Amino acid sequence: MIIVLKHGIEQQQISSLNTWLSDKGLKVFPIYGAEKTVLGLVGDTSHLSIDEVSMHEAVEKVLKVQEPYKKANRKFHPENSIINVGNVKVGAKEMVIIAGPCSVESEEQITEIAFQVKNFGATMLRGGAFKPRTSPYAFQGLRTEGLMLLKRAGNTAGLPIVSEITNPAYLEVFDEYVDLIQVGARNMQNFELLKELGRIKKPVLLKRGFANTLEELLMACEYIMNEGNQNVILCERGIRTHETFTRNTLDLSAVPALKRMSHLPVLVDPSHGSGLSWMVEPLSKAAIAAGADGLVIEVHNNPIRALSDGPQSITPSEFSNIMPKLREYALLEGRYISIPHTVAYAGTPGSFANEAAEKLYPTYTLTGLERFEDVFDAILSGKIEIGVVPVSNTLAGEVEEVQALLQNDKIEVIDRIKLPIIQMLVATEGTELSSVRKIYSHEKAIQQCEAFLATMPDCKIIPYSTTSAAASAIAALNDKYSAAIASKTAAKLNRLVILKESIQDSDENYTEFVVIKKK
Ligand code: PEP
Ligand code: MN
Repeated sequence: MIIVLKHGIEQQQISSLNTWLSDKGLKVFPIYGAEKTVLGLVGDTSHLSIDEVSMHEAVEKVLKVQEPYKKANRKFHPENSIINVGNVKVGAKEMVIIAGPCSVESEEQITEIAFQVKNFGATMLRGGAFKPRTSPYAFQGLRTEGLMLLKRAGNTAGLPIVSEITNPAYLEVFDEYVDLIQVGARNMQNFELLKELGRIKKPVLLKRGFANTLEELLMACEYIMNEGNQNVILCERGIRTHETFTRNTLDLSAVPALKRMSHLPVLVDPSHGSGLSWMVEPLSKAAIAAGADGLVIEVHNNPIRALSDGPQSITPSEFSNIMPKLREYALLEGRYISIPHTVAYAGTPGSFANEAAEKLYPTYTLTGLERFEDVFDAILSGKIEIGVVPVSNTLAGEVEEVQALLQNDKIEVIDRIKLPIIQMLVATEGTELSSVRKIYSHEKAIQQCEAFLATMPDCKIIPYSTTSAAASAIAALNDKYSAAIASKTAAKLNRLVILKESIQDSDENYTEFVVIKKK
C-alpha cells in the first residue's frame, strides 16, 4: 500500500500516522520528493481498508500495490532514483559507461586498460577478480589480489571500480575496496548473498539471471532493499532463448519495461548480451535508444589472449571509435556522455585521415566526420577540441576546400604531419596469400597497386566504395579466399592481418595533414 500525504502537512501529523501504522505491524518507508511526500508500507496490509487510512488527516490519497515487489516499485517512488557510486551519479542525465576487462589478469593489463578507457570517456572501471566460470578448469580469477590490482588501477586513473561478488564470505573485503558490487547473472537468486548485501550501504549492480523474468529480477532486488540498502542498479545482460547465433539474446524490451515497473536505474551489458565484439556498437546504440541509463562494456587490450570472454571484448581503440557515436545517440535521447579529449578527422574509421589522427593523438578519442566543413564546424562551435584535415597530396595537389576553410581567422594550425600512403593486402587471420582469389578495394587504391596485382593473376579484382569499407566487408565475409587493399588502421579496426605490406607501385605518394584548433 502507498499513502500520498497532503502538501504542507505538519511533521507531528506524519508521526502520529506512522505510529498508527507501526502499531498495525507495518514497516513505513517515507520518500520525500520535491512536491510530495509518499509513505510506502511493507507488510501484510490485507486487513487495512483504503477508507480507514484515507480518514487520517495527513492523507491525500491511498493506493493499493498489486505487484509483489514494493521497494523497487515505481508506484512506491514515482521519481527516478539516482544512485551515487563514488562521485558518479547513476540514473542522472549523464550516462554511465562502465568499461574494462572481463577479468583482471595482471597489474600491467588492468592499469593500461584503466587509463585508456578513462581517456576515451568511461566513468567506471570494471574487472572480475572472483570469476564464476562454467568450467572449474577455466581461469577462476586472481581473487583478492585481483581486487587490489583493480582498486589501485581505479585509484590512479581516477575511476570508481566495479567487481563481482560470488560469496558472502568476501563481503568485508568488497565493502572496503569495491565502489559498486556486482551480483552476476548466476547469483541473481542467491538470496543469502542478496540479504547480506542489503545490510551494507554499498551500491549493488544486480544483473538479470539468464533464465529469469523481470518480476523475478525485481523480487531479487527486494531482498537487498528490504534489508535497508536502497542503492541498487539493475542490469540487462541477455537471456537464454532458442537462438544460438549470439551467446545470449539481449532483451532490450527489458529496458522500457523496467523503467516503467521500477524507479531504479537500468544499465545494459551488450558484451555478455551478444558474446560478439562486433555487436557491441549496434547494441549499445539500441540500448541508449531504449532508455538505458548506461552501459557495461568489456574492453581488453589483447582480446585474442584474454583469459575470459575474449570474443566479446572490444579493444581500447575500438572503444575510442564507438564512444563519440554513442554520445550522438545519447544527445538524441536528451542524455549526455562526456568524453574528455576528442579529435575529429574528416573521413571514415580506417581511412588515412584516421591514421594521421591516431598517430598524433594516440590517447585521445577519435571521431570521423563526413565532410571537411563538419570538422571546422565542430571546432568552431567548441564541440570538439582538435581537428585533423588533409591539405595536400603529392599526386592530387592542394585540397582547395580545406585551404579555403583555413582562411577563417578563428582557426589556428598547431601541427602538421606528412603521411606516406602505404597500401596493404589485408585478410582474416589464417588466410594465406596463395589462397586469395578475390581482392576488394577502392578504384584509386587498385590503380596504385597495379604491379603487385599483376603478380596475382588468379584473383578477381572487385571495386568497392572505400578502402575501409572493403576491409570491413572482408571481416564480415570471414573466409580464406578474400582480401582487401586498405590501410594498416583499417586492418587493425577490423581485426585483419596484413598479408603483404607496402604494395603500392610508388613510395612517393604523401598526404599532408594539418591539426587545427579554435584560437
Ligand atoms: C561479468 O560481468 O563478467 C559476468 C560474468 O557477467 P554475467 O553475470 O552477466 O554473466
Ligand atoms: Mn565477462
